[in-house]
Amino acid sequence: MYAILEMLIDGKFTRGSSGKGEPVINPATEQTLAELPHAAQSDLEAAVAAAEKGFNAWKAMSAYDRYRILRKGADILRSRADAIATILTLEQGKIIAEAKIEVVTSADILDWYAEEGRRAYGRIIPGRMPGVRQMVIKEPVGIVAAFTPWNFPALTPMRKIAGALAAGCSIILKPSEETPGTAVEVARCLQEAGLPEGVLNVVFGVPAEISSYLIAHPKVRKISFTGSTAVGKQLMKLAAEGMKRTTMELGGHAPVIVFDDVDIASVAKIAAGGKYRNAGQVCISPTRFFVHETKYKQFVDAFTEIAAGLKLGDGLDPSSQMGPMANARRLEAMDMFVSDAKAKGAVIKTGGERPANQGFFYKPTVLADVPAEARIMTEEPFGPLAPIVPFKSFDEVVERANGVAYGLAAYAFTNDEKRATAIADALQWGMVGVNSLAVSTPETPFGGIKDSGHGSEGGIEGLEAYLNIKFVSQA
Ligand code: NAD
Repeated sequence: MYAILEMLIDGKFTRGSSGKGEPVINPATEQTLAELPHAAQSDLEAAVAAAEKGFNAWKAMSAYDRYRILRKGADILRSRADAIATILTLEQGKIIAEAKIEVVTSADILDWYAEEGRRAYGRIIPGRMPGVRQMVIKEPVGIVAAFTPWNFPALTPMRKIAGALAAGCSIILKPSEETPGTAVEVARCLQEAGLPEGVLNVVFGVPAEISSYLIAHPKVRKISFTGSTAVGKQLMKLAAEGMKRTTMELGGHAPVIVFDDVDIASVAKIAAGGKYRNAGQVCISPTRFFVHETKYKQFVDAFTEIAAGLKLGDGLDPSSQMGPMANARRLEAMDMFVSDAKAKGAVIKTGGERPANQGFFYKPTVLADVPAEARIMTEEPFGPLAPIVPFKSFDEVVERANGVAYGLAAYAFTNDEKRATAIADALQWGMVGVNSLAVSTPETPFGGIKDSGHGSEGGIEGLEAYLNIKFVSQA
């Protein structure tokens, strides 16, 4: 049922030459699924050489021919959605329905970028002198090194692969070592679709060793990273040495503002659905709930009832509504956030502990009356914790919502049109959902500001991220 774990270097699947590796663990059972091979330095050298050869072949192809291969890759991926979703759930833990949506959405992203790569338009600017032709041309940046985390093992690699390949770049991807099988299977689909050797390479190893080698390599021209702010800052420093372009998708701490003019039961349902998706391990997960004081108790009660009723279990069991956390580190983090908030006066309405069974499970948790100084109000929880606090006025809640270092996604619920516009304008975040938590689609830019990083994936912005601008003046 699980993937055959190999790296992809120069069009060939290989276990590399280091002889080293690490086990991949099923977070629902704590059993080992397979042994993941690590790349030796010689494998990384081979991957860069292959990516250079791949880049030369790929950029020389017409945008139309590239489109045909990428579209075929999307079709193959879609046809294997059930099998790949199973691999995803086995290694990451999320429920199978969410895994399936993730794989199908990844195919949609590839489709969209396949098309958009045909529209990497330049422009002609009228010259100041007769006979002078001034052209703006978009060219692929070159070899991309991409690093992706464990929470979306198909979608996050695909955002980077699809953007890079559609622009005409080649890519060396290092997916998370904790959820490698999904990315390997995604790569297999693209390889079978006819991608030339070396255009897509997938390697694994010790993250800091691989990133320091690849980012420093003079042939690598673009770095794309999704993960924590702390690691993002380290990688940017490495990239600065070689003046390399970066896209940084880092953490978030999304406020959800619930005004007094909405139907509380239906907003609580949407909010709880968003909160417990992927057990809260989502960078745009709603994580700080601000509810107007007149509706506060009603919202807390409705939200708590939904959270307490969720069925926790192995993601492969179709009756499970929330799976385990992806790794044991998250459990320790949940315990820390909950005990810290409790000690500072928060009230646990439901959850706040692990259930007594095997696997990295943590109960869906609701924390009420959480003081501003509790760590969960300023640090990203990345788990199934929902702190809910009351607010009095528009200005006060805007200040509190904006008052953290992050700037990825923010949400607000109101039926008042003027207030909807005012809150969308006031929230200093890269993405704002008004009356909706849906801020991630293939066509729309996804990205943050402040400590949440810079650059966008998705939308035409996600293609521009892999294109250089060249100005040609021809007399
Ligand atoms: P972490 O910071 O150690 O790792 C995050 C990811 O970065 C992992 O996939 C890891 O393999 C990779 N990584 C770590 N060091 C690296 C390096 N030097 N070079 C290249 N890649 C490297 O933390 P973690 O325990 O895995 O996750 C903890 C926190 O990370 C979460 O609380 C959350 O804030 C953040 N996170 C964010 C996202 C996101 O989508 N933005 C995803 C996963 C984790």
